[in-house]
Amino acid sequence: MARIELEGIVKRFGSTSVVHGIDLAIADGEFVALVGPSGCGKSTTLRMIAGLEDVSGGTIRIGGVVVNHHEPKRRNIAMVFQNYAIYPHLTVRENIAFGLYTAPLSREKKRARVDEAARILGLEALLERRPAALSGGQRQRVAIGRAMVRDPSAFLFDEPLSNLDAQLRNQMRIEIKRLHQRLGATTVYVTHDQVEAMTMADRIVVMREGRILQIGTPSTLYDAPADVFTARFIGTPAMNLLPARNAPDGLLVEGATAPVPAPSAATRVERLLVGVRPQDLVVGAQAQGDGLSLTGTVTAVEPLGPETHVHMDTAGGPVIALAANRSAPAVGATATAFAERACLHVFDAATERALERA
Ligand code: ADP
Ligand code: MG
Repeated sequence: MARIELEGIVKRFGSTSVVHGIDLAIADGEFVALVGPSGCGKSTTLRMIAGLEDVSGGTIRIGGVVVNHHEPKRRNIAMVFQNYAIYPHLTVRENIAFGLYTAPLSREKKRARVDEAARILGLEALLERRPAALSGGQRQRVAIGRAMVRDPSAFLFDEPLSNLDAQLRNQMRIEIKRLHQRLGATTVYVTHDQVEAMTMADRIVVMREGRILQIGTPSTLYDAPADVFTARFIGTPAMNLLPARNAPDGLLVEGATAPVPAPSAATRVERLLVGVRPQDLVVGAQAQGDGLSLTGTVTAVEPLGPETHVHMDTAGGPVIALAANRSAPAVGATATAFAERACLHVFDAATERALERA
């Protein structure tokens, strides 16, 4: 197992720069997820770690050794892709053993490694089958098995679950996480799905346009997003954001019935955005203390079972709130939703960076 360090990593394709200087240290045994929208440079970053792409600048260290010029094979890293390339004419055993094709091990040792991987992945009963006789999840496990038998220093996953249906994705998510807990291997997991990142990773790296916006534990990113992009990217439904400005008696949030206390850092900022997660904004809640009360017209009500979402049009724009006790107001009614002050996120509208709390 190994620590992975990226220092000032830059990637250019021809004259186009796509990764603009990434610094990231991944601890030995850590599970880190890279998340961000399509095209933000996640796969390129992963491929540079694996050695499948050269870096245009910066240093990559694996286990303390600079590997910039090491062939992929020498880096001893296993990669699992979205389109798991398993061979249809080979059995499950042969497909997994393919990972050891060039390994300097005896036949017995190779066989033992395959058996061990199959046991961990629950593929023992399927070893003599061919891929056509497997489910999508089983095929993905074969691809992971092939990566595992090499006993790599680290695992890299590039959207490995994107081709699976929702139910299977949930199941494989838990399996990969369990596998990590069991093997303790350093893992870098690329996904555009924030739910995967939140549920699986020790730390999440939020990327946008070739840059890192924020690195933190899932709860840090959820509770204290450093910028508007991360605030909207993590959590569903997305955080509500409302324009606000400073006034002598606090922040005037558009659509609010009264000013809310301003964090001291806000007094120097002209245009602000106040964020509140739908889960923290409750229709029909008893207003307590100096939180945010928003009034608007109900445009839609979505009962989801465990919670009911209330869509409202306010003077500050559309927001999504939660119905208290499942008792939602009627569409067309005027409703008031309340969030406690501690649940509010305040951003500088110009820089989109979060302001320190008061
Ligand atoms: P992600 O995995 O986050 O969706 P990628 O790392 O695949 O993003 O791509 C980042 C950017 O680099 C994109 O704009 C993409 O078009 C560009 N890119 C990726 N690979 C190449 C390549 N081989 N040649 C030129 N541009 C590329
Ligand atoms: Mg990609």
